[in-house]
Amino acid sequence: MKKASDKNNQADFIWKKHLKLLACPECYGDLYECGEKLKCATCNCEYVIRQGVPFLLTHESNERIKQFVKTHLIHGGQGSNKVFIRLKNRFPSMSLIFDAIYPPPPTVNIIPKQTYCEIAHLLEKVGKHGIILNIGSGEKTSAGWKLWKHLSPESQAEVINIDIAPFANVNVVADALRLPFKDASASCMIIQSVLEHIPEPLSLISEIARVTKIGGCVYAEIPFIQGFHPDPNDYQRYTFTGIQHIFSNYFKEIRSGVSIGPTSALCWILREYLSMLTNSEGFSLFIKFISSWFLAPFRYLDYFMAKRKDALRIACEIYYLGERHNKEGTYARK
Ligand SMILES: [Zn+2]
Repeated sequence: MKKASDKNNQADFIWKKHLKLLACPECYGDLYECGEKLKCATCNCEYVIRQGVPFLLTHESNERIKQFVKTHLIHGGQGSNKVFIRLKNRFPSMSLIFDAIYPPPPTVNIIPKQTYCEIAHLLEKVGKHGIILNIGSGEKTSAGWKLWKHLSPESQAEVINIDIAPFANVNVVADALRLPFKDASASCMIIQSVLEHIPEPLSLISEIARVTKIGGCVYAEIPFIQGFHPDPNDYQRYTFTGIQHIFSNYFKEIRSGVSIGPTSALCWILREYLSMLTNSEGFSLFIKFISSWFLAPFRYLDYFMAKRKDALRIACEIYYLGERHNKEGTYARK
């Protein structure tokens, strides 16, 4: 895995340009730089900066996240990932081969181009210099790159990648339930495949609403028909009407639809089903490996199937794009 130090250092310090928008995650007070730390002007809490990345976690978040970092970063999580990390550690000279044969995901993301254009339009409406917070960005920033390249050339909006661990490309380490940003500081919030991993999804939506400017937008992708994938845990699924409902308290829907189609859902379920034919963990992983490669080409049928009228009924994942409305927010400041 790439370390934070390998990153492009121009992007590492993007938070410095927006220091005034950062807030102490404990009390939402102002932060200022103090050597290799950020310090809160209100409660005096201190936050370390490691290799250019500030760790803006509350004491409570820190304790909760420690276990995740231990299992997923040090021991490589579960299933195929864990096996491949072990193999790469044992045979480092064959690393490239292991990367090449790593099983492909059962899904393909088919966000319509129109959705990117809508996001770009909403961003322009709230000003050229806004920030886009990409929450749960991970190492590859999810589908983020595709979104950014569709922004208009005049847009001066900047992306800040946020995650609970310092993966490559992460600019700020933070807990999504306690975002270290001031109220109404962001023009756009991106949250792809994160809500299912949060035990209190409504608290997260409330926190997103707090940070989003009026007229700004949220773009979310949420699973509907997918296998259980603890990362570190997996709590819920939503139908498309469920998604519209949970955002409606703070956002007006602009568009929603299928971001990963029904063929991907089938491939995912079939892969899991076949791997259950045996109780042996090793053999089960082997079946999963073979079926992943066998099923991989079929997922591209979703470029056709995801556009069918009833695709939402059995979609693998649904997206929601909403504009922050100016009704009184009901988010709670703790
Ligand atoms: Zn504070």
